[in-house]
Amino acid sequence: MAEAEKFLIVNAGSSSLKFTLYEMPEAKVIVNGYVEKIGKDDSFYTLKFGEEKQEKRKAISNHSQAVATMLDELLENNFIGDITDIKGVGHRVLHGGEIYSTSVLIDDEVLENIKSLTKLGPLHHPGEIAGIESLQALLPGVPQVAVFDTAFHQTMPKENYMYAVPYSWYEENGVRKYGFHGTSHKYITEQMQKYLGKDDVNLIICHIGSGASVSCIKDGLCYNTTMGLTPLDGLIMGTRSGNIDSSIIEYICKERNMSVEEVTSALNKQSGLLGIANKNDFRDVEQLANEGDEKAQLAIDMLKDSIVKYIAQYYFQLHGKVDAIVFTAGIGENAMSLRAGIINEIKDVMSISLDEEANDTIAGFKEQNSGEISTSDSKIRVMVMPTNEEYMILKDTYEISEQLKQNQTAPQLKKIS
Ligand code: AMP
Repeated sequence: MAEAEKFLIVNAGSSSLKFTLYEMPEAKVIVNGYVEKIGKDDSFYTLKFGEEKQEKRKAISNHSQAVATMLDELLENNFIGDITDIKGVGHRVLHGGEIYSTSVLIDDEVLENIKSLTKLGPLHHPGEIAGIESLQALLPGVPQVAVFDTAFHQTMPKENYMYAVPYSWYEENGVRKYGFHGTSHKYITEQMQKYLGKDDVNLIICHIGSGASVSCIKDGLCYNTTMGLTPLDGLIMGTRSGNIDSSIIEYICKERNMSVEEVTSALNKQSGLLGIANKNDFRDVEQLANEGDEKAQLAIDMLKDSIVKYIAQYYFQLHGKVDAIVFTAGIGENAMSLRAGIINEIKDVMSISLDEEANDTIAGFKEQNSGEISTSDSKIRVMVMPTNEEYMILKDTYEISEQLKQNQTAPQLKKIS
């Protein structure tokens, strides 16, 4: 009997490496792993399979070692009989710049391009590149696919992605809005296309997790999104400021005798909910607010207003023709009072009424984890839908590997001029 085909999905962060081994074509999860604090003394990893969860301490000094540890664990625990059981590897890659609007098979040219885009993703790309190169060395001949976080947003019209800065900054330095969370926004768009039974969906997708972005989908394609050159722009997030007056950077450098790097780091890591409420996890912020903490309540109000601001902007960019507003990711899927607060702000203008019971039940996230939270007489549907970025990476990796197997030519790189 033929061995089931296994596919490995890898998501390398700046100091972490998440992986999942799937059995295809059922997309059955065999094992999840998460290596954390790579490069630190207290690095460790967790493995989850079935009901079991194991945590192991091990000094892991770089991403190549993390990859080797991952393969050792897969073999030792018999998740794979041999490394040749792995028929394809999908890598989440942060930045595809203007080069990639779809997922691609990684060859030498693609790897060079990903390296050249490191200046746009300096925190993530080095770990991602190390992950790709190690797996290429350890699994020679196995197709490896890059799935870019920016790719889905490449359909934005120029007036929506340009900044009004000297044009040469765009031409010579690539300064423009790229957008992120593209794999999540694409997944939700495809699910909504199925749900509504048409391709030309107009949506406002609110991906609200520790990172957060809203996308405007017109006729099934990305028309606008809130993150920019980097994920710092747009909404208030767990630790990111979202958009601010850029003069603050120079001002604070001078006032507090800080470098540009220090201020930029503070805007990414010490701002947002953390900056205002001293907590970056939304559950903690909610709990503090419920106990009467004014700063926590302020942080929630600011987050709510920043989401409302972009829903309003995209409602007008879609000329009011919106099929659905969709909430997804950790906060979007679970924080029912925040959703209720947002809908309260937009309901009169957009003729929406909240189905409170549905909002609370879906937020319970137990039996029913996806569905409409607006009443049937609302002009615009409001939905809650769990995102599944990993499934999208798996799907693209599997499809590209299957195409290769069938001896078709490798998918052409789609270049955007
Ligand atoms: P993500 O980045 O998508 O994993 O989302 C993480 C965020 O979701 C964190 O701020 C969590 O506090 C938030 N979150 C997760 N579960 C809940 C919940 N039940 N209620 C409110 N927020 C939640």
